[in-house]
Amino acid sequence: MAFESLSDRLQESLKKIRGQSVLTDENMEDMLREIRLALLEADVNFNVVKEFIDHTREKAKGQNVVGSLKPGQLVVKIVHDELVELLGTEVSEINVDKNPTIIMMVGLQGSGKTTSAGKIAKYLRDKKGKKPLMVAADIYRPAAIEQLKTLGETLDVPVFAKGTEFSAEEIVTEALEYGRTNNNDVILIDTAGRLQIDERLMKELENLKAIANPDEILLVVDALAGQEIANVAQSFNDQLGVTGAVLTKLDGDSRGGGAISIRYMTGVPIKFIGTGEKLENIDLFYPDRMADRILGMGDVVSLVEKAQEVYDEKESMKAITKMQNGTFGLDDMLVQMHQLQKMGPLSGILKMIPGMPKLPNFSDEDSAAKLKITESIIYSMTKEERRHPDIITLKRKERIAKGCGMDVAAVNRLLKQFEESKKVMKMMGNIDPRTGMPGRPK
Ligand code: GDP
Repeated sequence: MAFESLSDRLQESLKKIRGQSVLTDENMEDMLREIRLALLEADVNFNVVKEFIDHTREKAKGQNVVGSLKPGQLVVKIVHDELVELLGTEVSEINVDKNPTIIMMVGLQGSGKTTSAGKIAKYLRDKKGKKPLMVAADIYRPAAIEQLKTLGETLDVPVFAKGTEFSAEEIVTEALEYGRTNNNDVILIDTAGRLQIDERLMKELENLKAIANPDEILLVVDALAGQEIANVAQSFNDQLGVTGAVLTKLDGDSRGGGAISIRYMTGVPIKFIGTGEKLENIDLFYPDRMADRILGMGDVVSLVEKAQEVYDEKESMKAITKMQNGTFGLDDMLVQMHQLQKMGPLSGILKMIPGMPKLPNFSDEDSAAKLKITESIIYSMTKEERRHPDIITLKRKERIAKGCGMDVAAVNRLLKQFEESKKVMKMMGNIDPRTGMPGRPK
């Protein structure tokens, strides 16, 4: 199976660190070096590896150790999240709302294009209740037309074919008409592939795109081709604007590097994976499941997630209690600002609170940048000042401003924001931190 050796090596390098209760620069760097090698050996693109390691290092340094968790466990979670992000974070479903939905299948010869067209037709019929039509537009290889016809018979899905003596453009034009009169709500066009990308092929695909105006252009790539698939995807995407990739032969013995690099390198989301030669061997692509499969260690990842969830709630409760007894300080505000950022766009949350005043200091676009400034100002205060901001005189303001390289006006703005955030906190008192919805559970 794909990813096997990558999986083993990643688990090996993380095993050493996951039990650590103290992380030193040295053991972090050791681990990062091993992860780097594991990814490179799995044929992941060099730039992708570099970015991955840099992000992981940065996040691991800035991590908040939560409750009884060990720092090593948090690092496992960080590596997991980085993998999910590389793979695309969200599930990217195929868009079949339009009637008819037109899907153009493109890709190099042998990548699994025709097979995938059949698999997707079956998936859409069985899982989405669609009535697909497949179109044989590969006029250069009679065998390809026969293959699609056979697939159609096996699946009991109609195939529009005219043989090789018509142009692909003519075939597609007629097929669209045929599909409309036969009430096919999905039309899957199997286009010609080549062993390599060439100009004539691209020109033909561009023509077909202009004729069919497809809702999806799915690029089929073979996971066994390794890193090369990211380059192939880039070329197809530049010329045609691909809407998604179908990654085939993941059941094969690929090292996985291409699969990991393609999204990051091209921005094209993976929509389906092919996991065998049979027509039911197709799945939607779930980045988190794929990361789980590559990394293993689902136990550690879910342990950390649980702990972080409980921690968030505990922190909010603490802040509310502090508000109530008047001991809410600047450090607490900082914690809350971090929490709010995790909860997603602030304006959405604030809008849910009836009678919420407009707060100029809480706009979404620059809240991350503001948070950094706020942090640096607060970090240049003494503990006492953070706990009791009312002792901050002009003299102290000048010292604080100097300490963080800002002016006194910035310190004043922060203190004003603190007063405002106390108001917000009061209203946030009945927001459930896990959902961001009003109504805290008992
Ligand atoms: P096309 O030239 O791009 O249309 O490729 P085909 O659909 O003819 O597929 C080429 C070969 O790859 C065939 O032997 C298929 O059975 C095989 N194939 C396609 N998808 C998969 C897959 O997900 N797993 C495996 N193991 N084989 C696949």
